[in-house]
Amino acid sequence: MHRLARLDHQYVWHPFTQMRDWLRREPIVIVEGQGAVLGDVHGRRFLDANSSIWTNLHGHAHPRINAAIRRQLGRVAHSSALGFANEPASLLASRLVAAARPIRAAEAGADLRKVFFSDDGSTAMEVALKLAYETARRKQGAIAPRFLSLKGAYHGDTVGAVSLGHIDLFHRAYKGLLFRTGKVMAPYCYRCPFNRAKPERTDARLARKCDWECVGQVEKTLDQGQRRGKPFSSFVVEPLMQGAAGMIPQPQGWLKKVAALCRERGISIIADEVMTGFGRMGVSDPAANAGARAPLFACQQESVVPDYLVLAKGLTGGYMPMAATLTTQGVFDAFLGEYEEFKTFFHGHSFTGNQLGAAAALASLDLLQSAVEIRRRLRLQRLLERELQRLWSLAHVGDVRQVGLVAGIELVRDWKTRQPFALQERAGIRVCDAMAKRGVLTRPIGSVVVLLPPYCTTEAQLVAMVDALIYGIKAL
Ligand SMILES: *Cc1c(COP(=O)(O)O)cnc(C)c1O
Repeated sequence: MHRLARLDHQYVWHPFTQMRDWLRREPIVIVEGQGAVLGDVHGRRFLDANSSIWTNLHGHAHPRINAAIRRQLGRVAHSSALGFANEPASLLASRLVAAARPIRAAEAGADLRKVFFSDDGSTAMEVALKLAYETARRKQGAIAPRFLSLKGAYHGDTVGAVSLGHIDLFHRAYKGLLFRTGKVMAPYCYRCPFNRAKPERTDARLARKCDWECVGQVEKTLDQGQRRGKPFSSFVVEPLMQGAAGMIPQPQGWLKKVAALCRERGISIIADEVMTGFGRMGVSDPAANAGARAPLFACQQESVVPDYLVLAKGLTGGYMPMAATLTTQGVFDAFLGEYEEFKTFFHGHSFTGNQLGAAAALASLDLLQSAVEIRRRLRLQRLLERELQRLWSLAHVGDVRQVGLVAGIELVRDWKTRQPFALQERAGIRVCDAMAKRGVLTRPIGSVVVLLPPYCTTEAQLVAMVDALIYGIKAL
């Protein structure tokens, strides 16, 4: 075993990992990266098929991002946002506000104007949570503001973010630490009890037969809260696709409909775009969007302006840990007052507004908004669509769901019955292990295999990713 692998085994505790399994075999020790390729200590090459857990956008060691970080490093790496402003964070905040502007006409008056920086998805969600809680108390007189989120939701691992989540497997253990939040049915066409369509060899959203019962359930839950004297103040949602829940996409129009329900009732919307942000959701109609300003955020695709937009993973192109919570002038104003009124937002982190992170994020935004890169993403989105068609011939493939540059492939015992694999069978893990042997790295979510390629992925690399996936599924 390599010396570094031994040290890892001896000292490092890995996230979301059964360490007994981990210690059974030599880990892949990554020492370098170039574009969509990662290299390990033994000189082996792997395709990074989940963009290093959904963080990387433009590939590894991108010359523009590396140069931006180096340039900033030559000046100053970090200074505190407690008491001081800095150059890249000021520039970045203005760029994020501009990028989040609606693409098409949205509700009048709604826009995001202020940026609160933090370090990762979880902390950015905590910021949104605290701001929403306090704003509901100050502006609407709510005594104990309540949150509603979707079944299967994942919004991070800090205690507040866990409270907003509903993944039993992760969250059960900490129940005593958490506060209560409401949950409501998420649209999940493939396994929707209201979907009357028989299994077909196509994305379940397209073949579905229903009357939008999932929207009805949100309406019912919101109204129940109101009737019982415990109204919800905020609705928390990953727009267009729930990530860690299993790459579960929403049928087109769902987001707009539930957002309208919230607006009618004065309920604020927290959009967790930690996974979906920065172009990951592609464009819903590539042909129509080719000329327009490309949407960077999922909300923009359905002309929804949330009260809180939460960004992390891809913010810096995946190079530095940094996050941001965007919000409205109205929320900002609720915290204004004389010093001695103590209306200040009492929250912050040592590395808030980190200069290296902000410099990387600015370089990443330049790339994201360049015409060449927009065309490249469109090409990759279409290529992914084409390549995924190859999976439908496999009996263990139940659902193939793509939104933009993300795909979730749900493995089942038999596609004709949608019969799932039991979690203990580790179907997803087995497929991903087989893919790793073929030089393709990704991580499953239960029985769902994720393909989430960096935007720089070439056609040959994408084909290789899908080849490895097919090989893995056939080996099941
Ligand atoms: C990853 C993720 C988070 C948590 O982000 P961290 O940076 O891991 O704390 C929150 N929400 C969503 C949707 C995520 O995908």
